[in-house]
Amino acid sequence: MTMTCVPKVLTFAGSDPSGGAGIQADLKVMTQLGVYGAAAVAALTRQTSQGVVSVMPLPADWVIAQVEEVLWDIQPSVMKTGMLQNADVIREIGRLWRKYIQEDIQRDACRNIQGSHNLALVVDPVLHSGTGVSLLASGGLDAFWQELLPVTTVVTPNVPEAEAFSGMEIRNTEDMEQAARCILNSGVRWVLLKGGHLPGCDEDQIVDLLCGQDQILWFRGQRVPKADLHGTGCTLASAVASFLALGFSVVEGVERAVQWVRWGIANPLFVGQGRGVVCQRELGVKFG
Ligand code: PLP
Repeated sequence: MTMTCVPKVLTFAGSDPSGGAGIQADLKVMTQLGVYGAAAVAALTRQTSQGVVSVMPLPADWVIAQVEEVLWDIQPSVMKTGMLQNADVIREIGRLWRKYIQEDIQRDACRNIQGSHNLALVVDPVLHSGTGVSLLASGGLDAFWQELLPVTTVVTPNVPEAEAFSGMEIRNTEDMEQAARCILNSGVRWVLLKGGHLPGCDEDQIVDLLCGQDQILWFRGQRVPKADLHGTGCTLASAVASFLALGFSVVEGVERAVQWVRWGIANPLFVGQGRGVVCQRELGVKFG
């Protein structure tokens, strides 16, 4: 039996039964972008489009066993993490990814359509929901810094998350760059700092920053007025993971992912009684 040649991504994240964020959103993005998505659940949430009601942690050993079994079976080239909820889970996932990339099993596996075998880890360091509910238990930040970021290809913090990691206040684009450089000290290869929460920035402009050791790129665009949408972070990180699995470099993949998500933000869906969700359709394709 031969392994099917399709780009594969494993998402390891929380479950959002309303479908706008978490593994539900991640799988839609992956399918839409043409990669095979596998999903392991890190925690359960009760939530609707109006916000998170409560979080149900799952036993860390059981959660990690899911990832381990699927990693070695499906052998994805890219793993994307979202809401991990618990410091023990974060530490274990770092250990597991290290072991995965050290092993030879990936050498001959069919990894992506360009034939590249590069493995990548995309980490969306989820701390809070958009409505302010904590999605990470105490100790989680240190676990990210010590165990997961050193083996991460791209980390995708928003402004509050970047402030938590860097310990500095971010008020403008100079601060964004300084905070991103500080986060690089963890050992992560690239920081994609999302400027959506930047206070006092030009009201019409949105700016995201991609920062590596030797390269820095700004993605400027038109801000969508009143776009308080659910699931933007999950959608962006999953799009980055998908483009990497398709064989794009980090710079190209992030650029495409940012454009794709901005289109989804400009064309939101209102599926429930609360916040809208990012449209996860192919660029320019409308429903109906
Ligand atoms: N629920 C889950 C499972 C998530 O992973 C996230 C964010 O990553 C959220 C809720 C919060 O999403 P938002 O901040 O877009 O509302």
